[in-house]
Amino acid sequence: MALSDPRVAFGDASPGGPAPVAVSVRPHPGAAAVPAAPAPAGGLEGPLVDRYGRVHDDLRISVTDRCNLRCVYCMPEEDMTFLPRAELLSFEEIARLGRVARALGVTSVRLTGGEPLVRRNLVDLVALLAGIGFADLSLTTNATLLAPLARPLAEAGLTRVNVSCDSLRPERFAAIRRRGDLATVLGAMDAAEAAGLAPLKVNVVVLRGENDDEVLDFARFARETGRVVRFIEFMPLDAGGHWERDRLVPGAEVAATIGAHFPLVPLGGHDAAPAERFAFADGRGEVGFISSVTQPFCGACNRLRLTADGAIRNCLFSDDELSVRDVMRAGGSDEAVADVLRAAVGAKHPGHAINEPGFLAPRRSMSMIGG
Ligand code: SAM
Ligand code: SF4
Repeated sequence: MALSDPRVAFGDASPGGPAPVAVSVRPHPGAAAVPAAPAPAGGLEGPLVDRYGRVHDDLRISVTDRCNLRCVYCMPEEDMTFLPRAELLSFEEIARLGRVARALGVTSVRLTGGEPLVRRNLVDLVALLAGIGFADLSLTTNATLLAPLARPLAEAGLTRVNVSCDSLRPERFAAIRRRGDLATVLGAMDAAEAAGLAPLKVNVVVLRGENDDEVLDFARFARETGRVVRFIEFMPLDAGGHWERDRLVPGAEVAATIGAHFPLVPLGGHDAAPAERFAFADGRGEVGFISSVTQPFCGACNRLRLTADGAIRNCLFSDDELSVRDVMRAGGSDEAVADVLRAAVGAKHPGHAINEPGFLAPRRSMSMIGG
């Protein structure tokens, strides 16, 4: 199906997927914390199912809030205040949480940040997590430090990487990411594939008037390299609070632009990542659309997040958090840690409410939560 009508493309893409859940009307009043333990204690047994039947088997782990870049849509301020190191979870604490999560049915883990590769000895954490036995253990990175680490990471048990790259033009890449350079990132993609970290996904945040004229270049890139390019809508999660809806390019618009040149066929449903997936009709490659703002996929959400300072968040856009670090450092048992995960899942709202009038951007930005 050609994507001349994006509504058709998106509306028909996931016939067998989970039933849609209405987006809640839920302003963020500020510091409201999830109630201490709304879910009954259940030892170390899963699965983690919320009030809407969503099974949570995907855990995003932020290993640091620091970064060596300053992307305009993420860290627009040059001077960022980062967490004191003592507040970060140790690798042992992260692995302990990972073991409990695995017992509760989590099968997929993605390491993120901030920039995960600026955390020293990350390979050691990958080895610890790989020993737990997740079906999928992946990493999202800006790839500036990836090339020399690709093979050690793969040997430690990493299965895949997602590389963020918002432009294929060197000057523009530098303007959007504000540090680092395109050649290094492209070289790192090659190194990752050579190390067996495949299929490689490329994340592109599409910004109106900044890189939206490169959509077709990225489609060609996907076709020529076999890398899965995912177009992401700009979300109200930048550290500077400068998000404006006008800067966002809807995924449907990107899909229509690509579909008019290279017909696309929906692959059906969302993959483990939230992208709506499409193959090129001639069989040469794949693209995805992460349209969190204009096409919320909350009804299919299967993820939990662990922030670098040890808070469990049940939604990128919710300020509700529970500290698993405090439970661990107070001598809590694995069952008590499991109760925190269950409580977070039990308190999850049906949707992120970005499009509701009372919506307030969350207090923590993407780089602090872990995107
Ligand atoms: N530093 C790594 C990187 O850039 O890939 C991992 C962390 S970064 C927060 C994870 C993903 O979030 C990246 O693909 C980045 O482009 C995306 N991202 C950051 N801020 C965003 C925003 N305000 N809206 C949409 N995506 C954003
Ligand atoms: Fe750093 Fe990633 Fe945020 Fe860019 S998107 S500033 S690379 S954390």
